[in-house]
Amino acid sequence: MAASSPVFAEPVFRFAPSPNGRLHLGHALSVLTNERLAHKLGGRLLLRIEDIDITRCKPEFEAGIREDLAWLGLRFDGAVRRQSEHVESYAEAARRLQARGLVYPCFCSRQVIKRAVALHKAWRVDPDGAPLYPGTCRACDPAEAAARIGAGEPHLLRLAMDRAIEVIGGAAGYVAFDEAGQERSVAAEPADWGDVVLARKEVPTSYHLSVALDDALQGVTHVVRGRDLEAATDIHVVLQRLLGLPTPRYHFHPLLSDETGQKLAKSRLSESLADLRARGVTAAEIRAQLSFD
Ligand code: GLU
Repeated sequence: MAASSPVFAEPVFRFAPSPNGRLHLGHALSVLTNERLAHKLGGRLLLRIEDIDITRCKPEFEAGIREDLAWLGLRFDGAVRRQSEHVESYAEAARRLQARGLVYPCFCSRQVIKRAVALHKAWRVDPDGAPLYPGTCRACDPAEAAARIGAGEPHLLRLAMDRAIEVIGGAAGYVAFDEAGQERSVAAEPADWGDVVLARKEVPTSYHLSVALDDALQGVTHVVRGRDLEAATDIHVVLQRLLGLPTPRYHFHPLLSDETGQKLAKSRLSESLADLRARGVTAAEIRAQLSFD
């Protein structure tokens, strides 16, 4: 009998920009790192458009992103996944978690949270620096909550983090890898985030929920993204465990700063790839500047 060779999952990488502005050099670093690692491991590279933020995402930004990526010479495998086309499937996952008592409706406005938090001297903040949700609606009677929702009161859905951690058995973590292929285990600290929002008022999902579901659905094995999303990965591993999804391996690349030392950011209107192109900079020069020759 011929010995069958073991079947290894093909590595799958993804670049997942949000079309809420134009790409800058930091995005070029991110997508080129994905491309390099996918090539090195003989894997595929997918493109996902994370456009669930209906107030900030615009079709013209998506068109601009596609233009910038083509200009950089990137080719993606498979069909592009656009999150706005799958909102119902994310909402359904949120409902499943809610049915297990892991998610609860929250009626607090930003102002109400601000006021509650202001009453305390040293209120804890999450890893992004936002005050932890004080838990006001966590103990809300389900019948009362249902009546308020029935009356049309705006609400969002929050993950009951303590309960979620209990359900997954306390510990969670993931494997981080570097560009040299070294791996290390990372213990997640999801409690630092408190009861994060899983579904918003305007759209019944969130970045955390959609990203956890899509990485699994697209068979992503290696997530390569900026260090600004390293801490949030602790939320994603909890959601993966709760939803029975696999946990990919993670690599977090450094963030780029401008000449004043400020982190490049769309919100700060950092010079975009389109601006650089208009100044006559070539894609080859961008690759060289970021050490991708
Ligand atoms: N959509 C996110 C962004 O543009 C990236 C999310 C991710 O890579 O997980 O910052």
